[in-house]
Amino acid sequence: MNAVVLLGPPGAGKGTVAEVLVGKGYKHVSTGDLLREQIRQETALGIEAKVLMDQGKFVPDDVVVGMIRELFGAGKPGDKFLFDGFPRTLVQAEKLDELIGSLNGNLDEVVLLECPADAIVERLSGRRSCPECKTVYHVTFNPPKEAGVCDVDGTELIRRDDDNPETIRQRLTVYAEQTAPLITYYEAKDLVHPIDATQSIEQVRAAVLEKLG
Ligand code: ADP
Ligand code: AMP
Repeated sequence: MNAVVLLGPPGAGKGTVAEVLVGKGYKHVSTGDLLREQIRQETALGIEAKVLMDQGKFVPDDVVVGMIRELFGAGKPGDKFLFDGFPRTLVQAEKLDELIGSLNGNLDEVVLLECPADAIVERLSGRRSCPECKTVYHVTFNPPKEAGVCDVDGTELIRRDDDNPETIRQRLTVYAEQTAPLITYYEAKDLVHPIDATQSIEQVRAAVLEKLG
C-alpha cells in the first residue's frame, strides 16, 4: 500500500487536483467528503460533525482516524491512496504513520499546495460542487457548461454551508494553528514537495501530475 498526502489550506485546490489523479490509479480519500456523506445520510456521526463543520472547527481526531482505519481495513495490498484534507493535526499525522506502518505501506510524498488567504477567499466564495459525484467547480475560474448543473451527471450544484466569509476566516485560522505545523513535521521526513497553487488550474494539475503521474 502506498499513500500520498495533499496538504494545503482550504480552497488551495486539493480536490481539483485530485480529480486528475483518480485516472492515474489513485484512490481519492477526502475526509470532508466522507463527513458530508454522513451528514447527508443523517447518521449520528454526521449530525454531530455538522455542528463543528458549520463553525469552521475540526471534527475530533478519533472520529476521522476511525474513518481512515476502516478504509484501510477494507483495502488491498496494491492500493494507492491520495489523502485530501487528512491529516489535519499532528495527532492525525502520527496516527497515519502508525496505520501505514502496520500495513507495511509507505507514505511516498506530501504535495503542498501553497496559496495566500486573499486568493482562498475568492476561490471558496465562488465554489460550487456536485453533491453526487463531488466534482468541484468555480463560478468564474472553472464554470460548468450549464450554470448550476454538474457536467458529469446533471445534478444541481450546491454551495457548501461552510463557504461563507465568516466560516472561511475561521477555517483559515484553524489551518494556521493546527495544520500548518504538519509542513515542518513532513519536512523533517524529507517528504514535502511544494507547488505554487496560485497558478491556473491546468498549470497546478500539470505540476502535480509531473510529480505523481
Ligand atoms: P480544496 O479541496 O483545497 O478545499 P478545491 O479543489 O475545492 O479546494 O478548490 C476550491 C475552489 O477553487 C473551487 O471552486 C475550485 O474550482 C477553485 N480552484 C481550484 N484550483 C484553482 C486554481 N488553480 N485557480 C483558480 N481556482 C481554483
Ligand atoms: P474539507 O472538505 O476538507 O474542506 O473539510 C470540511 C470540514 O470537514 C472541515 O472544516 C472540518 O470541519 C471537517 N474535516 C474534514 N477533514 C477533517 C480532518 N482530517 N480532521 C478534522 N476535521 C476534518
